[in-house]
Amino acid sequence: MLADSYGRVATDLRISLTDRCNLRCTYCMPPEGLDWLPAPTMLTDDELIRLIGIAVGTLGITEVRFTGGEPLLRRGLVDIVSRTAALAPRPEISLTTNGIGLARLAAPLREAGLDRINVSLDTLDAATFVRLAKRDRLADVLAGLAAAASAGIAPVKVNAVLLHGINDHEAVDLLQFCLDHGYHMRFIEQMPLDAQHGWRREDMVTADEILAALSAKYTLDPDDPDARGSAPAETFLIDGGPATVGVIGSVTRPFCAACDRVRLTADGQVRNCLFARQESDLRTPLRDGATDEEIADLWRRAVAAKLPGHGINDPGFLQPSRPMSAIGG
Ligand code: SAM
Ligand code: SF4
Repeated sequence: MLADSYGRVATDLRISLTDRCNLRCTYCMPPEGLDWLPAPTMLTDDELIRLIGIAVGTLGITEVRFTGGEPLLRRGLVDIVSRTAALAPRPEISLTTNGIGLARLAAPLREAGLDRINVSLDTLDAATFVRLAKRDRLADVLAGLAAAASAGIAPVKVNAVLLHGINDHEAVDLLQFCLDHGYHMRFIEQMPLDAQHGWRREDMVTADEILAALSAKYTLDPDDPDARGSAPAETFLIDGGPATVGVIGSVTRPFCAACDRVRLTADGQVRNCLFARQESDLRTPLRDGATDEEIADLWRRAVAAKLPGHGINDPGFLQPSRPMSAIGG
């Protein structure tokens, strides 16, 4: 088991497959991009599968989510998914993606064993998309979403980050779009994880503001709190249900006490929290010939040291040096 000293057990492994991306969302990375991780430091597919095998076979991981950067840019993604699906016990496999290229990859990914997907979509307006993500790719994202649904990946969830003065007026339109298409909408508060360190609390669209905007059109009632479990999203029934909307208030409504996540970066570092300031290197021991049990032990120790909370609301909070795109969101 991957237990920490506050009684939490990590069962959800989130793996960054690459720190590279084909968008430049302003809340994530600067327009010019970043210095990408050097190729030799990246875990190979075989190394990755060995680590995932240890996680599910020895450490109690039951869910594996591939993310990035943009995971669809990882060559071999379909093969990585099918090798993960062949592990015993088989974990649930999900993907967080910006959707570009998904139109082509959705069906092969489903066939390889992908169970669930989250596609990021912050706006339905092409000009706003360019303003926000610096690339004219809205049509690709919408095509990717449609392909995911028709490939039978369920549920298809849509993630949106709202920014004041850019897309904060689109909360209702985004939710209605998801209701019309059978996607599950989730709004995420902007967190201090951008590479530019430009996050300011006063700029953030809060969970309260999102709920107020949605309440102008819909009646929202909190869903059964027991159904939430360790999920970060608070879910609300829309107009009595059964459709729901999720709001992830990482900053104003932290859910650290119920967190069951652990992260692995594309260069083989375990992070016990998105906001951790320390990482545990698995790549070096892996390449130096460590046994599975030795690696499992290092992993257990990394999780045991997890702090009780992310500390964003503490006066001394320091943003982690790795940006979200290199940690895996
Ligand atoms: N590129 C993929 C994507 O955009 O879905 C996967 C990686 S991205 C880092 C994962 C999720 O993190 C996306 O839904 C994105 O909107 C979100 N995200 C990125 N930066 C964020 C920030 N500063 N605050 C909150 N969410 C953020
Ligand atoms: Fe790329 Fe995702 Fe970051 Fe946008 S949020 S720049 S799509 S990694």
